[in-house]
Amino acid sequence: MISFNIKTNRTFTFIRRNAWLLTILVAIGGLFVPKLGLVVIPIILALTILSIFKGRYWCGNFCPHGSFYDRISLKISLNRKIPSLFKSKWLRLGFFIFFSIMLGKKVIRAFSLFGTTPFLDKLGFGFVASYLMVLILGGTISVLFAPRAWCNFCPMGFIQTLGYRLGKLSSHLKHTDERVSIERTDLCHKCGKCARVCPMQLSPYQEFNELNQFDHEKCIRCSTCVVNCPAQILSLKSEVNAVSVAAEVDLSGYEKRKSLPAYIADIVDLAHDVTEYTFRLQDPMCTFIEAGQFILVKVPEETAMFRAFSISGYDAEKGEIRVTVKQVPDGYGTTLISEGYAIGDTVELEGPMGRELIVDKKSEELVLVAGGIGITPFLPILHDLKKDAGHVKKVSLIYGVNREHEFLYKKEFQDIESDYTDFEYIPVVAFEKDYPGEKGFVTDVLKKKDLTSAKIYMCGPKPMVDATMNVFRELQIPQENIYYESA
Ligand SMILES: Cc1cc2nc3c(=O)[nH]c(=O)nc-3n(C[C@H](O)[C@H](O)[C@H](O)COP(=O)(O)OP(=O)(O)OC[C@H]3O[C@@H](n4cnc5c(N)ncnc54)[C@H](O)[C@@H]3O)c2cc1C
Ligand code: SF4
Ligand code: SF4
Repeated sequence: MISFNIKTNRTFTFIRRNAWLLTILVAIGGLFVPKLGLVVIPIILALTILSIFKGRYWCGNFCPHGSFYDRISLKISLNRKIPSLFKSKWLRLGFFIFFSIMLGKKVIRAFSLFGTTPFLDKLGFGFVASYLMVLILGGTISVLFAPRAWCNFCPMGFIQTLGYRLGKLSSHLKHTDERVSIERTDLCHKCGKCARVCPMQLSPYQEFNELNQFDHEKCIRCSTCVVNCPAQILSLKSEVNAVSVAAEVDLSGYEKRKSLPAYIADIVDLAHDVTEYTFRLQDPMCTFIEAGQFILVKVPEETAMFRAFSISGYDAEKGEIRVTVKQVPDGYGTTLISEGYAIGDTVELEGPMGRELIVDKKSEELVLVAGGIGITPFLPILHDLKKDAGHVKKVSLIYGVNREHEFLYKKEFQDIESDYTDFEYIPVVAFEKDYPGEKGFVTDVLKKKDLTSAKIYMCGPKPMVDATMNVFRELQIPQENIYYESA
């Protein structure tokens, strides 16, 4: 079953990893030693003060309940869409009033014993009871709905929202409040991954402001979107720093990006899980594409979600762009694309984008490394080099797959090789003993090559890129000679 919300590991500091133990200690241990509840008093003070400077930073980084939801509940949570009732401001307000009255009554009763021995136990127990209530109620809805469903109407979250609003009255927030910031929206793939992984089920990519910041009161600054963004363009930054970073961002490769209305001219299945889509642009001026770039294809049924695909072919005269899509098992976008699009349908594209795989024709030697579906950008690159090689005198393409039948565009590459003498095609198979050619991984072939003066371009799954980068480190290949793109 395809699901929009992705269960993904949170990033854990020592505190985030272990703070949940405090919830258990206070909520359960406090039933036996009520004074343990007194620890909640400095916690409420700390989160209130912190919120004036950093919004709900506490919730995402220190909160013991939050740590419990992320460490324990996440594993068994049904991770469903958080009901809009939980997100309503009236529920937040109502629950805050209810919680304040309940806790307030207990504190007042405790103070009637002020100066006597049981006073601290009675006061502590008021907080123990509230921690137990959050553990039971918050824990239950974290499993039945989503790990951080409770955080939408948590009274402590409400207090922090008020503190944050107070902080916003002063200009210090520009320096202290580190919000989710995007380098520049021009670099965003609009893939929606930041929304799909967000424990608060927010949509940063749809709401960046003109300062490239996601200014949302419910954002708990947990960094989950930051570490999961495939374009690696997110970070937590103050407004001042976000503005200075945006001013220095290099937009080369993205400056021609625009909306490209098109229709589907052809759909061809290359394998049971690989399909080639040919789009014909409504405005057939696609001469601005550079070999190695990618485009965004809108996901049907989603108003603002796209998927990035390398351009596997283009015809400037006909105004056609081709992409080759591998169906990810239960993948959200590829499933909707394969089920939702047919020949003749109109489709929204955006691009062209990307600079990592635009090869340097001033270099004399190029080594191209592909893994699996990562082969697609190298087809237009080789067609382009064959027409105009610039200073390039030698090109090798090392293409790794698990089994021989997985090779894509084998004939096309062999055809290019047959009349482009400076080009060498090296297909590699990992798991077939009887394969007659190169066996093993692309790294095995790379280790045998002299790479000292080559520019290297890679595209493939992350494990391949990581393994290859390790080999390059061992071989002491200068970082500035290596370029890669990975999904
Ligand atoms: C620059 C660039 C170029 C690309 N070029 C191509 C290309 O030419 N061809 C191509 O086929 N692809 C390409 N991709 C990848 C493509 O953009 C998509 O990421 C890919 O097709 C998967 O999309 P999806 O929505 O189907 O999968 P998703 O639903 O986004 O799933 C992707 C991965 O997320 C994880 N995941 C998903 N759902 C869950 C869940 N519920 N719980 C836990 N984990 C989950 C899984 O690890 C899964 O493998 C490219 C990506 C980039 C960035
Ligand atoms: S996760 Fe995707 S949509 Fe969100 S900022 Fe990164 S590239 Fe853009
Ligand atoms: S927007 Fe990002 S930092 Fe904010 S709560 Fe969602 S995942 Fe965490």
